[in-house]
Amino acid sequence: MSSIIQLLPDHVANQIAAGEVVQRPASVVKELLENAVDAKATDIKLIIKDAGKSLVQVIDNGVGMNITDARMCFERHATSKIRQAEDLFSLHTKGFRGEALASIAAIAHVEMKTRQDQEELGTHIIIEGSKFVSQEPSVLPKGTSFSVKNLFFNIPARRNFLKSETVEFRHIVDEFQRVVLAHPNIHFTFYHNGSEMFNLPQSNLRQRIVTIFAGKTNEKLVPCNEETDILKVTGFVGKPEYAKKSRSEQFFFVNNRFIKSGYLHHAVMAAYEGILPVGAQPSYFLYLDVPPNTIDINIHPTKTEIKFDDEQALYAILRSTIKHSLGQFNVVPALDFDRDSNLDTPYDYKDKEASTPTIQVDRSYNPFSNDKPNKTYTPPYYPKKEGSWESLYIGTNQTSEIEIDATSIVNFENDEEITASLFDENNEEKQGNRTYQVHRKYIVNPIKSGMLIVNQHRAHQRILYEQFLTNMTVHQASSQQLLFPINLYFSKDELELIEELKQSLVNTGFVFEENTQEYIVLSGLPANVSEKEASLVLEHLISDLQDGIPENSFSQNDTIARSMAKSLAIKTGAFLTEKEQENLVNGLFACKEPTTTPFQKPTFITMRVEDIDRKFTL
Ligand code: ADP
Ligand code: MG
Repeated sequence: MSSIIQLLPDHVANQIAAGEVVQRPASVVKELLENAVDAKATDIKLIIKDAGKSLVQVIDNGVGMNITDARMCFERHATSKIRQAEDLFSLHTKGFRGEALASIAAIAHVEMKTRQDQEELGTHIIIEGSKFVSQEPSVLPKGTSFSVKNLFFNIPARRNFLKSETVEFRHIVDEFQRVVLAHPNIHFTFYHNGSEMFNLPQSNLRQRIVTIFAGKTNEKLVPCNEETDILKVTGFVGKPEYAKKSRSEQFFFVNNRFIKSGYLHHAVMAAYEGILPVGAQPSYFLYLDVPPNTIDINIHPTKTEIKFDDEQALYAILRSTIKHSLGQFNVVPALDFDRDSNLDTPYDYKDKEASTPTIQVDRSYNPFSNDKPNKTYTPPYYPKKEGSWESLYIGTNQTSEIEIDATSIVNFENDEEITASLFDENNEEKQGNRTYQVHRKYIVNPIKSGMLIVNQHRAHQRILYEQFLTNMTVHQASSQQLLFPINLYFSKDELELIEELKQSLVNTGFVFEENTQEYIVLSGLPANVSEKEASLVLEHLISDLQDGIPENSFSQNDTIARSMAKSLAIKTGAFLTEKEQENLVNGLFACKEPTTTPFQKPTFITMRVEDIDRKFTL
């Protein structure tokens, strides 16, 4: 029998490899820019025509190549960056596979000019679809220029698959930003169809970020710095009030290489927990340095994912670093523990003149008599509702209830004089369920055994979660009809996710008109989701489901209810009226499981009178 296995000719192998390396013009931009950085250039120009479909050119002033390397660099697996497998574990360069140039040359018309500093003449090569067309010595500036024309000229299917110029251009800008943010010490310029898009002189990181993103960027950056044995973090995070709707200003670099990591993103979001408006995305530019041998750079050519040895530790360090920075720079009132906003001068009083306080004395008042003074202050009284939280709470308490009376306290603190009238037996009753909001974060409530402290954000998560779940599983959810249906745009994968979850979403109250290839049309929303919040709620949900949709419908509902509760719960920093505070506390204790959030975090704590007493005896 004749043998049937053959080795693929090089140009075919290159074309196949090109399919992996080069998906679109932006991939060429990335590879060429990275090569220029690796060549130690200090000045790099990117020139693009028609969103890269006609031309991608990168000119650098780096080390250049001699005549042999100039030809060699187009061979597959030709690289100057690693010599042996071990080198992979101490990489400081962007490239190492030696595949990019061979791949690009296989599917485009490439012209390369390169000269090394010490040589008089450089080399000028033209290569089209892996075929060398010409090679000549030439008088050239120091460094290298690659121009890539007519991308996918020999693979029409790929060429037709390219998106509109706007989309392709956006991808190019994304790649450009990822490279320039990692190298503020290099001067980059970027021209598109003859106009200058970016001119980024050598600078420090902060200036680089500000030059790229312009606007109010400088005001919103908060520096982050932390150094531990396993991780060094530098960079900036955005103040919460400048958070955006999109994730376009979120960057992680690990050992100066741009990466994507849902896990680390989560750590950042955890640091912002409770201080961001619903669905808002904070900006971040975070540079992580880890020992190279503790990461596994995915060997896939274009993947930006990375595997860390000790992910959990990195998560914790990152989260606390960011929390610390946000707190230290006083960007969040809720994190500013030294200042109680309740003590701020109310706005109305700010400009009023100070006046001498007057004192009114009730001359008939005799402190030694048990008779009450004529006028007493009556705190507002809230009638207790049937099944209100207090009755739920009493009895779940492990300790015996203590009546606050004068004697028990006098016993504790012999040196304290107490007048009986202060402890009028009716006084406690009158206070009813009075609540106080502290730091716009906690609701404090005197209860029989002492004091109840409710975390407003977490309590509301619990309430919403149970509401959504009941709506989805028991009742037909109530839905508010929109006057004008809204269109929400999502990426293809996101639309697929939404399609899969459609039934559960309908159960919560979403009404879908039609789904197209690019957007969904909603004509109704769950009763407690506003029109403004709709897209954010869905965006959050999608990002919570990145790791996959739960299989059975029960856990699907559960995930949706949790995610929506998290998105919609009132945030730390939100001011609540007394009525709202009361509703929240009552709502919490009407829940089936009031003690924790759907994410198993405590929603409230109690402080017994003994605990307080003890503090006074220290
Ligand atoms: P890799 O970057 O993975 O090594 P490439 O195919 O991108 O593979 O490049 C092959 C080789 O060509 C590089 O290792 C480098 O030696 C050389 N090279 C590519 N671009 C440049 C450049 N702009 N300046 C100098 N040398 C370059
Ligand atoms: Mg390369």
